[in-house]
Amino acid sequence: MSTSLRRDEANHRAGVVRDIRAEVDLVLSLGQEFSSHTVLRFAATPGATTFADCGGEDVTAVLNGVALPPEAIVDGRIALDDLAADNVLEVHATMRYANDGEALHKHVDASDGRTYLYAMSFLDAAPRWFTCFDQPDLKATYQFSVEVPEDDWVVRGNTPAERLGERRWRLIRSHPLSTYFVTLVAGPYAAREQHHDDIRLELLARASLAAELDRSADDLFSVTRDSFDAYHRLFGVRYPFGDYVQAFVPDFNAGAMENPGCIVLRDQVLFRGAATRAEVASRAGLVAHEMAHQWFGDLVTMRWWDDLWLNESFAEYMAHRVITDSGRADLWTDFGITRKNWGAEADQGPGSHPVAGNGADDAHSSLENFDGISYAKGASALRQLVAFMGDDVFLAGLRDYFARYEFGNATAAELLDCFTRAGADGLDAWAEQWLLTQDMDVLRAEASAIVREDPEAHPAQRPHAIEVAGLDGRGSELFRVPVLVDAGRIAVPDARPAAMLVPDAGDQTWARVRPSLPFAEWPVISQVSDVATRVVLYNAVRDGVRHAELGSASALDMVLASLPGETDPGVAATVLGVAIELSGAWHAAARRREARGRVALVAGQLLEAAGPGSDEQLSALRAWLTTTDDAEALTRLLVGQALPEGLELDQDLRWQVVRRLVMLGEDPVLINDEFARDHTSTGLVAKRGALTAVPDATSKREALNLLVAGQDLGNYELYAIGENLFLPEQDDLTADMVDDWLRGVLALAETRHGWVLPRVVKASAPLSHASSELGLALRQLAGADDLSPVLVRPISETLAKVDRIVAAQQS
Ligand SMILES: [Zn+2]
Repeated sequence: MSTSLRRDEANHRAGVVRDIRAEVDLVLSLGQEFSSHTVLRFAATPGATTFADCGGEDVTAVLNGVALPPEAIVDGRIALDDLAADNVLEVHATMRYANDGEALHKHVDASDGRTYLYAMSFLDAAPRWFTCFDQPDLKATYQFSVEVPEDDWVVRGNTPAERLGERRWRLIRSHPLSTYFVTLVAGPYAAREQHHDDIRLELLARASLAAELDRSADDLFSVTRDSFDAYHRLFGVRYPFGDYVQAFVPDFNAGAMENPGCIVLRDQVLFRGAATRAEVASRAGLVAHEMAHQWFGDLVTMRWWDDLWLNESFAEYMAHRVITDSGRADLWTDFGITRKNWGAEADQGPGSHPVAGNGADDAHSSLENFDGISYAKGASALRQLVAFMGDDVFLAGLRDYFARYEFGNATAAELLDCFTRAGADGLDAWAEQWLLTQDMDVLRAEASAIVREDPEAHPAQRPHAIEVAGLDGRGSELFRVPVLVDAGRIAVPDARPAAMLVPDAGDQTWARVRPSLPFAEWPVISQVSDVATRVVLYNAVRDGVRHAELGSASALDMVLASLPGETDPGVAATVLGVAIELSGAWHAAARRREARGRVALVAGQLLEAAGPGSDEQLSALRAWLTTTDDAEALTRLLVGQALPEGLELDQDLRWQVVRRLVMLGEDPVLINDEFARDHTSTGLVAKRGALTAVPDATSKREALNLLVAGQDLGNYELYAIGENLFLPEQDDLTADMVDDWLRGVLALAETRHGWVLPRVVKASAPLSHASSELGLALRQLAGADDLSPVLVRPISETLAKVDRIVAAQQS
């Protein structure tokens, strides 16, 4: 593995190298390797020394006409000595395709055997497919030429593609681009096209997903058109990157990647089976998020990774804003119920860091900081920033920022200067409180006041612009007032008598909320009429469990009591997931079966009460399929009987039924039968998950061995194994595998890295065996001197979760 770029090295190199023009020539094959030939022309400080990045094999390099000796090419770096004012570096390398969703990833479609490629350069994978100076502030213009192995392949990249011959393609020279968002998409992709406002829009997907692409195309084009209109109106700078291609690709680790002009998105969002409106709305948010990045990140790029928030917090904020304003959906509700909990867990965990200036010393540690803090906390901070300085100042500052730094780089301080020039006042203190201090405040309501409790280790003294609602004993809202909490204790103005005061009733800030009543005395949450207030209360329940102020059994009682009355289908779907989670590892093992039975009962009741074809019906069915013990009913479903009116048992649901049936003891031959019926890449992943869930000790052990040693497995297959390994209802089968998992994790770090390693570790962690003994073993592992640095964060986060589960089970 190559050495991770350190910040001081990046600073030095940025001072030495400039005006980079790159020509990359790729010869792609159907095998495991491809040839990568790069010519870098660049200006430099004469006599200076630096290096280029190249992660290939059989590398030969020529600098200014002189072949470099083999010892100049070590650990993915090519040493460049005695540079001239103008330089030409020419590098030939053989590269390997990736199977982990990074660099140039190769996927062979299980249904038709066709090969698909796409490149994911973020965060530091670019040198694994072309030679470059891999850091965000060394932008280069690129010209790609590509030879493909089959006549019907299409090639797309950051700039429009021209077909030069049957198998020869060229991408026209690009604007200056950072290495981390240079991309290529190549293969027999199906394509759909539209034009809008002089921009060519294109959608790509594997040929085997053409029908799914067609079903989603109208919605995707419509969101794209509306979002372009909105951003052009708001930002005052037109989209600068030519065509706008959205390629839906397999095995993608993130939601999507904002490569200028050529976005790649996980192809699950083409929804093979039924999808709820909340899921379609969330996909609209994903599309709008990547579009916002064309300005935030692509047009103006952070100078170093510690300002990742300049990309993510803004894209997250803008996407929720424009989709909600478009009237398509209230995406802030989805933000509250799905995104905030992700950020809250990270902000209170062992890897917590400030939103900005998070001190990333090298590229690898930056990838760790690519978490819910950058997204959910950052976007919440921006909502508070708009409240603090006004929307006009916010937008004027952004227009100045884009005009001033276009095609270049900037820092947080430079953006704040733009806001100040636009009229903002007091931003230094605001930034210190909101952007430079980690952790969450508690906003606790008393009878007629709001108390802000700053975390002891990180007292930020943040101002919170919130609403406070007063509820009666049954949850009806009596009044609501705006309050600026800018001190430790603020009286609520015009507070009338109320049974319960709820701080941040509009869900506008970033804080742990405690209403004025203890959990045990709350009204049923679904009786509260305002959905934002309900989201705040559900999140307070999750936070209460996280801090062992509320036992998991009591929390389960609260959410199950609320579910039948919950009127927002998207919120209900997430709360069903919370109930499933609470009934699993968070419950003491002896009481899990009973707890899961209660979830199944409520899910079954919701299923019966839901309207035919409704989102509520689909969410209830999915929850029931993961919790029921009724094998007979499941079997009837699988043969097409007893399906509630309005439901179709699509392939995704069929896999859920099959998985549950084998968990309940049915013959695992069902799994192979189902794969014969669904011989697709998605089917292969579902098969892997179901096989792992088979309840016998041998299958479990085989799955663990495969997880650790399955070099040929793709990333999605690994995740499917991880998620089905230590299931809360199979503790008796897996009790003696915990030590092997601890050892296996160490072995895994030898072969896996990047996005995959931490995700596999966390997905497969034996949380269902949470105990003080497991905590001790993890503590020893985390404290070992020789622990691989890439394991530190996933292990410490697993340990923190184990500690929290143990505490919640005891409270
Ligand atoms: Zn993003």
